[in-house]
Amino acid sequence: MEKIQSVRGTYDLYGEAKRKLKKVIKTGSDVVEKYGFEEIETPIFEFTEVFSRNLGDTSDIVTKEMYCFNDKGGESLTLRPEGTAGAVRAFISNGMQQNLPVKFYYSGPMFRYERPQKGRQRQFTQFGIELLGVETPQADIEVISMAYEFLEKLGLAGAVTVEINSLGDTESRNNYREKLVAYLKKHYEELSEDSKKRLERNPLRILDSKEECDKAVVENAPLYADSLNEVSKKFFADVLKGLDNLGIKYRINNRLVRGLDYYSHTVFELTTDKLGAQGTVLAGGRYDGLVAQMGGGDVAGIGWACGVERLAMLLEESVDLPRPIAVIPVGDDANDKAMEIAYKLRLAGFRVEQSYSGNMKKRLAKADKVNAVKAVIIGYDEIAKGEVTLKDFESGEQKTVVFDNLIKELS
Ligand code: ATP
Ligand code: MG
Repeated sequence: MEKIQSVRGTYDLYGEAKRKLKKVIKTGSDVVEKYGFEEIETPIFEFTEVFSRNLGDTSDIVTKEMYCFNDKGGESLTLRPEGTAGAVRAFISNGMQQNLPVKFYYSGPMFRYERPQKGRQRQFTQFGIELLGVETPQADIEVISMAYEFLEKLGLAGAVTVEINSLGDTESRNNYREKLVAYLKKHYEELSEDSKKRLERNPLRILDSKEECDKAVVENAPLYADSLNEVSKKFFADVLKGLDNLGIKYRINNRLVRGLDYYSHTVFELTTDKLGAQGTVLAGGRYDGLVAQMGGGDVAGIGWACGVERLAMLLEESVDLPRPIAVIPVGDDANDKAMEIAYKLRLAGFRVEQSYSGNMKKRLAKADKVNAVKAVIIGYDEIAKGEVTLKDFESGEQKTVVFDNLIKELS
C-alpha cells in the first residue's frame, strides 16, 4: 500500500505550529472578552442554504469553494466556509433578537475548495467576532479597535496596515453599481471570462478580482467615494473620526469591496506584505442586510474574521511551554514514592515530567531533553528519612529537602 497521506490542502497541527495557533486564539479571546463578547460554537456543517442564500451570490466562496454533500437522508449539507452565516443562523434559530446587542466570538475550522498554496489551505482556522443590533458608527469603531488591539497584543501591530472603505447604504451601492457597469461595459472585451459573467450578477466583485487583465481595467474604474450619498458619507466620516480619536492609523482603499455580497457601509482588512500574495490576515465589514436576508428581521450587524494560520506564521518568537520539573526515582523501590510526589506537585500546579524507565544517567538525559528546570531525585534511603534531593539544572547545585518543604522550595 502506498504511504497514507492527508488530503491536499489539509495539515496535521502539532508542536510549535499548534502552540502558535493556540496563542493566537487565546490572545484573541482575552481581548474580545474585555469588550463583552462571549464565545459561541455552532456546528461545522449546516444546511447548504445557510451559506448560499440567493442565486445572485457570485462570491468565490459560494460559487466555487464550498464542500457540499448529500447526507444519507438526502439533505444537502455544507462544511462551513466561514463563520458569519452560521452565527447569524444561530442568532435567528435561538430567537436572540429580543435582547440586543448580541456579541459573539468564535474559532474553529473552516473549509474551502481552493488551490492550496502558502497561506491558502482547504481546511484552515478562523477566529472571528460578530456584533448584532448596533446601527451606529460606534460599533464599527469598536470592532476595528478591537481587531487592532488583538494584533497589537500579538506584537504584530507594526507589521499590518488597516485598510478601510465604505460601500455606503443601498442607495449609494445602486448608484455606484450603475456607474461601474456603464464603465465596465465599455471594457467588456478586456475582462476575464469570470468577470464577464460577474458583470450581470455582481459587478462589484470585479473590483476584487485577482486576474491581471481585470486589475488593469479596474485601475481606472469610477471611485466608490464619488457615489456615496450624504448619509453614507457622514457615516464613513464618523467612523474615520472615531479611529483618529483612538490613534488608530488606517489607509483608505477605494478598491476594497470584500468577496461576499452582503456588506454595506464599512469594510476593512488588515494586511501585511510579509506573506506574499496571501497578505490579508483579518477582514470584516458591516452586513446590515444579512439578518433580514436570512429571515431574522431588520437587525444590523458587523463583524470580522482572521486567518489564524496566517497570523501564526507572522509570530517570530517561538511559543514555549513552562519548563517542567523532572521526578526521578533511584531504583524500582522508589517508584511508588516518585509517583506520589509527582501527583502532589501536579495538584499544586507544577508541570511535572516522569521518566518511566532507565538508569539514573538515562533519566537525567531524558530530563534534559524535556528541558526540565529542576529534578526531584528520590532514593530509597532518603524516603525513610522523609527527604529528597533537589537538583537545579541551571546552576548544577544539589541539596537535600524534606518532603514537606518541597512545594515551598519549588515555588
Ligand atoms: P482571500 O482574498 O485571501 O481569498 P477571503 O476574502 O476569501 O481571503 P475571508 O472570507 O474574508 O477571506 O476570510 C477571513 C480571513 O480568513 C482571510 O483574511 C484570511 O486571513 C483567512 N483565510 C481565508 N481563506 C483562507 C484559506 N483558504 N486558507 C487560510 N486562510 C484563509
Ligand atoms: Mg478567498
